[in-house]
Amino acid sequence: MENFSVESLFEGIKSVDKRLLGKAITLVESKKAEHREKAERLLQKIMPLTGKSVRVGITGVPGVGKSTFIENFGKLAIAKGKKVAVLAIDPSSSLNKGSILGDKTRMEELAKEENAFIRPSPTSGFLGGVANATFETMLICEAAGYDFILIETVGVGQSEVLVADITDVFLYLNIIGGGDELQGIKRGIMEMVDVIFLNKVEEENRNKAKLTKVELLRALHFLPSKEKDWKIPVLLGSALNNKGLEQVYEKIEDFIKLKIQNETFEKVRKAQAEKRFDYWVQQFILQKTQDESATEDLYKQHKKNASALKSNPSSEAKIFVEKLLKK
Ligand code: GDP
Repeated sequence: MENFSVESLFEGIKSVDKRLLGKAITLVESKKAEHREKAERLLQKIMPLTGKSVRVGITGVPGVGKSTFIENFGKLAIAKGKKVAVLAIDPSSSLNKGSILGDKTRMEELAKEENAFIRPSPTSGFLGGVANATFETMLICEAAGYDFILIETVGVGQSEVLVADITDVFLYLNIIGGGDELQGIKRGIMEMVDVIFLNKVEEENRNKAKLTKVELLRALHFLPSKEKDWKIPVLLGSALNNKGLEQVYEKIEDFIKLKIQNETFEKVRKAQAEKRFDYWVQQFILQKTQDESATEDLYKQHKKNASALKSNPSSEAKIFVEKLLKK
């Protein structure tokens, strides 16, 4: 990695120099200790400039039309004078080299827009780490003045939970199919979602889509509401033909307004920040105990006990931490 100073990266972010934005993101994604130290300084510096965007999580199975949606929704937001950043949390990218935003042909038109910034998903590290890198990338984009941060994920593993953990509004894309739409939506997702968009609704399947909508609304009716006075809307449209995207935009605005009114907007963001804090406490404790000579041996000893498959790992960890805190 080239050696850019924290100051030059900071200036690059403020002036929305996309090349330097990219460098700053590479820095926060890095796991090397010296990079991390620099990343901390940079993140601390940009903090006063963050927090002003709307953070949108977008999920749905591959092929449902997420990138088509993001491309046209992003263009719509830009036409309204907004600046849009697109990020991804992609668990598959840490397993193999594939990445949902890695494919250069996706969102080609949006990528050409001056007021858009598209960042492929980080390709290393375990999922929790990837979510964290995405969170910090989001802060960088906010500091650069992006109004909308769209975070895409595929419905694999825990990725939706992680996206929900760092966003303000959660959008679920679905298509109508063979009548098993409801089963197609994992229950866990239904509990996280704020807006549903039924994509690929065109002339020939409009009636069926309307029926699906009724069914979905009925199913949603039985779920406890996540946000007071919010009824999860089921919108119909076609990302490809730019139909229904305006309504999604409006619903997102309504939802954010309601959260501010209910005073949950800040509250949720604060709770999210606490989760990030806990993540880093774990990371730093683990790293420090491995690195510092005073604790290194103790750490190795208990880890070895666990790896001998005779002692319960959590018990070993507990004994180790207790000894550590007494030191
Ligand atoms: P992703 O995997 O969820 O990102 O889905 P893509 O955006 O790549 O879309 C998958 C396929 O569905 C592509 O061939 C798109 O052109 C197509 N598609 C996306 N939205 C629509 C739509 O509204 N109508 C129709 N007919 N096709 C669509």
